[in-house]
Formats: sequence, structure tokens, C-alpha cells
Amino acid sequence: MSTIGSWLRHSCTRVVAAALPQDCLLCGSASDDAPLCVPCRSELPALPRGCPRCAMPSPLGEVCGVCLRHPPPFDTTLAAWPYAYPVDRLVRSLKFHGRLALASYFAEALAPLVARTDAVDVVIPMPLHPARLAERGFNQAAEIARRLTGNPGARTPRTKLALQAASRIRRTLPQADLAFGERLRNVRGAFACAIDLGGARVAVLDDVMTTGATLGELAKVLKRAGAARVENWIVARTLE
Ligand SMILES: [Zn+2]
Ligand SMILES: [Zn+2]
Repeated sequence: MSTIGSWLRHSCTRVVAAALPQDCLLCGSASDDAPLCVPCRSELPALPRGCPRCAMPSPLGEVCGVCLRHPPPFDTTLAAWPYAYPVDRLVRSLKFHGRLALASYFAEALAPLVARTDAVDVVIPMPLHPARLAERGFNQAAEIARRLTGNPGARTPRTKLALQAASRIRRTLPQADLAFGERLRNVRGAFACAIDLGGARVAVLDDVMTTGATLGELAKVLKRAGAARVENWIVARTLE
């Protein structure tokens, strides 16, 4: 575990330790609306208007220069929040401490965004490598996707959740430790798609999008499997 990793784990433990099961995960006050009280929910940071392809800030909502110069393999990115305090803590709380109530909360936050988009045919959670899945015991993206596709406001009846469609066939280094070019190389050949997506409109659900290298690589594989369109549905977008 890297120093940063241990720090993250440590700071998450502090947040979670402050909370009893019925209490708000952020401020610890008693809450009927667990996992977050109403004031904490209303103070979560808003995502600035962004590029429709990658969700990086773009004042008029136009396609950003990066996406114009190098169009990414995915078509659209929708995100609920910026990856900033305290959303970052919530994401880590789900991932490293198994606070599954947050998976429901994230799905609830994504539902209205997703309801405004054209329907998709298939929702695929970002897969974890089997070794990572065994360590963690669950895939946070799959947990959110399961709850989101169970939400009738967020999907059409023909939308399918395909939990096993994509898999990681190679273990990769943590992207956070790598420079941009290294991130692209690190994820190359990391995914496989087990189903024929012929003409399908696909949504990939992930908790965090940083450079988009991992999501781009998966979108490439899904398009090779026939996907007509790939959108990213993201809980939190890194804006730096
Ligand atoms: Zn609170
Ligand atoms: Zn862009």
C-alpha cells in the first residue's frame, strides 16, 4: 500500500468511525435520510457545465478542445458531482469500507441525469480484475448499476443490465500513480467483451473518471464488439 493509499484509508476510517448506522456519514448528526443528512446533501459541490464528450468544464457546454483534437472512443459523459471534498470521501467509503447505502445514494443521484438522456440498451459496470474483486468482495460500479437499473425513472423497459459483459483480462497498475501517456499504455488490452453488442447503445457505469484513459479503452473494446454508441455514467469527475 502506497503512502497516499494509507492516508486515504486512514482519513476514510475517521469519517466512517464518526458515524453510527443511522447517522449522516459526513457530519455524524442523526438523520432519517441516511447515509447523508439533508443539509449535507444540499452542500455537495455542483459539477460545472461541461464538455458533452468528457464532462471537463466548458463554459458554454461546447465540445472541449481536447475532445476536438483527439475525439475519445466514448460519445458522451454524464457525471453527478466533481471528484472533490466531500464526494471523494463518500466514494472511498463505499469502495474501501463497503458502505453500500452509498451505492443507493449514488444511483439516486444519477437517476435524474440518466432519465434526461436518450435511452440506452445495455448498462455495463466498469469491471474489476477478478483478483481485485476477490480482495474487495464487491464491485462498487456493479452495485451502483444494479440499483440504478432497478430505478424505473432511470431506464426504459428494454434497458438491460449486463454485469458479466465486460471483464478485465489483465491486471493493471493503479492509474493514479501514472502520467497520462503511461495510463494509456497501462490499460491497453486490459478488457474483453463477452457478448455481441451489434448496434446497441451502451452506458458504462463507473464511480470515478480521472483522465478517461480506462473508460476510453473499455469504450474501444465495446465498439469493437459492435456497440453503436457508448456513454459514460459517472458518480464523480476529476476536474484537474
Ligand atoms: Zn450531515
Ligand atoms: Zn471534452
